[in-house]
Amino acid sequence: MAFTVSRDKLSTVNVWQVTTSTDFELGPFPDAPGYETAAKLDEEDSLAKYRERFVVHDPTLIYLDGNSLGRQPREAREIVDQVMSPEWSERLIGSWNDRWWDLQLDLGDLLAPLVGARPGEVVVSDSTSVNLYKLAGAAVRARPDRTRIITDDLNFPTDVYVLDGLARSHGLELTVVPSDQTFGPVEEILEEIDDRTALVSLSHTAYMSGYTYDMGLINAAAHDAGALTLWDLSHSAGAVPVDLEGTRTDLATGCTYKYLNGGPGSPAFLYVRESHQRSLENPIAAWWGHTSPFDMSLEFEPTDGIRRFHTGTMPILSLAAVEPGIRLALDAGIEAIRRKSVLLTSYFIEQWERHLARLGFELASPADPDRRGSHVSLRHDDGWRVTRALIEIAGVVPDFRSPDTVRFGFAPLYTSFSEIHTAVQRLERLVEQGMHETIDASRTKVT
Ligand SMILES: *Cc1c(COP(=O)(O)O)cnc(C)c1O
Repeated sequence: MAFTVSRDKLSTVNVWQVTTSTDFELGPFPDAPGYETAAKLDEEDSLAKYRERFVVHDPTLIYLDGNSLGRQPREAREIVDQVMSPEWSERLIGSWNDRWWDLQLDLGDLLAPLVGARPGEVVVSDSTSVNLYKLAGAAVRARPDRTRIITDDLNFPTDVYVLDGLARSHGLELTVVPSDQTFGPVEEILEEIDDRTALVSLSHTAYMSGYTYDMGLINAAAHDAGALTLWDLSHSAGAVPVDLEGTRTDLATGCTYKYLNGGPGSPAFLYVRESHQRSLENPIAAWWGHTSPFDMSLEFEPTDGIRRFHTGTMPILSLAAVEPGIRLALDAGIEAIRRKSVLLTSYFIEQWERHLARLGFELASPADPDRRGSHVSLRHDDGWRVTRALIEIAGVVPDFRSPDTVRFGFAPLYTSFSEIHTAVQRLERLVEQGMHETIDASRTKVT
């Protein structure tokens, strides 16, 4: 199987192509250990029915990258078609009044229960990177006498870049607390938080190891010291229950294109606790955050409520496509999604122990499901070529994170236990036969 990128990228559709030059056995493998367990778990799976709500173009392709780009909900096409016509083609600018003007807030309210927020506290807007800048910027402005921002080295690079840039432009110090690369350095973070700290900003579930923080614990320590907290929920939203209200979180943001299946580059969401909405200032003062944008006044007057964290006009086609993924997660229920997620990752770890540990794969995620999100990472000395071989020869799509980590994402709405069984069998056979060694070691842009 190969991903062919055509020369004329703007006009030609790129497709997954099944290569016929290999006779690699794709399974299923009913004689291999663990097969019956997987079949039984699938039979008892109350969420199995959601798989058909997604486009599954090639059932032999095992997609374990829903933590990077979720599958396409069937309803997405219909929703985008509706924006194309009649909303854009017939109603033209009238659609702003019909539906588009409030769409970011409506989608925010729809998403709110998935992260334990109340209506009016969430808005779908911009990208996660831009939202981080807006929220972290608002936080440091609200603590003008303080000089520090704290994060950790498990955080996603864009988060650290944004925080670092902001710290430099405000003359603050960014402390990046070191970890062992798997577990969050909780004790060390608690020790670092002091009365000079303006903001503590972390990923709830770490993108690499899948470690999941106890938000309430960090929030309480930050608040005791008078600091604010900003959580990145990108690897949790739609997979790991989050209680923004109960944990007394101040600020949060996250992607909608991962477990929320909103589509490539779909707008992110942001959360501002209701009690902060009046006092915090969006550092990108822009016209959608103005009290009356169409007065066209040159004086900026921030509006009330979550709209204050708007910037400018959003890509409505992408924004509209976010709705079906949120609805599917709500319909399935985040608690049921979590229950299945824990079973999926636990089953995978069991299979790793049995089949992959002896082949040089090392577990790089927490073994304790309470401290783990919905993906599991394995380290391998030849991780890059193993990943490419899985994709190109074995029809299994995980992703690779430098220098040696292969991430396997399990999306409870469409990943089955039997797929995991088959994927591990394919991986075991591939490495046993040394097939990954046939792969060119040079790197593609996205893996
Ligand atoms: C995926 C991800 C992002 C991506 O940010 P974009 O602005 O959408 O590119 C940021 N932070 C975390 C933790 C992520 O997992």
